[in-house]
Amino acid sequence: MARTKILVPGEKMYGYTSAIVSFSTGIDSTGVLYWAIKNFPKDKIWLLYCDTGAEYPINDGIVKNISKFLGIKYKILRHPKGFLELLLTERFKFPDAKNRWCTSILKTGVTDKWIRANREELGNKVLFLTGERKDESRSRALLPESEYHSTTLWTKRKGEFECHWHRPVLDYEKGKMFEFGKDLGIGAHPCYEYLPRCSCMICVLMPDRFCKENAKKYPEIIKQFVDAEKEIKHTWKNKKSLEEIFNSCQDIDDIEIGYEQIKLTL
Ligand code: SF4
Repeated sequence: MARTKILVPGEKMYGYTSAIVSFSTGIDSTGVLYWAIKNFPKDKIWLLYCDTGAEYPINDGIVKNISKFLGIKYKILRHPKGFLELLLTERFKFPDAKNRWCTSILKTGVTDKWIRANREELGNKVLFLTGERKDESRSRALLPESEYHSTTLWTKRKGEFECHWHRPVLDYEKGKMFEFGKDLGIGAHPCYEYLPRCSCMICVLMPDRFCKENAKKYPEIIKQFVDAEKEIKHTWKNKKSLEEIFNSCQDIDDIEIGYEQIKLTL
């Protein structure tokens, strides 16, 4: 997310017309959803999910089911091109830690656009909620709990709109996130059965072995990224190609289950 780094004074944090939970389907955003449910009436909460185009196929269903189960609104956003098409027609290189175009275009960009286009429905004071936790990394440990969101209108020329970006689970440990999910009656994403983190299926920041697990379970999907990698002639990571990972696990005995067999665990 594009940060303003302008802190919100505590006395300004009241009177919100909407609370947007930035929901990745992972466990930290489930913890954020728990916080939202405890602090806002359900009719003010939006469950917002950005499909990057490299997500688990079950994710749309998870978002819809949680929304229905909890009685809150949901919105699924997609960039018109998505990960693969952007890679093949505009970016020509996989993202990396220094150039995470996947996050800036496929998540932040579409989110900011949606908020700006829906100010009327959201009301003039919005709380935008994300699930960073301090113990995940040094940079996350330095994040403030609240800052102004980039969609805030700083002059009244285009209207009055304030958006505060709040990180309610910064000080919590991961185990607590699973507990919050249980309290809500929401099962963890099925990927936690074999991975410690829930991210895009071919996330460039994930250890190779995690990607290999996804390649075993979702070969048809990962193959599309392998083909794109060949087409752009740029490998997934600096010293590792997706093709290498894909080929290393395509022994038929390695393929445990197809994605269509994974049941939603709500
Ligand atoms: S999970 Fe990984 S691949 Fe997906 S948007 Fe984030 S950094 Fe990019």
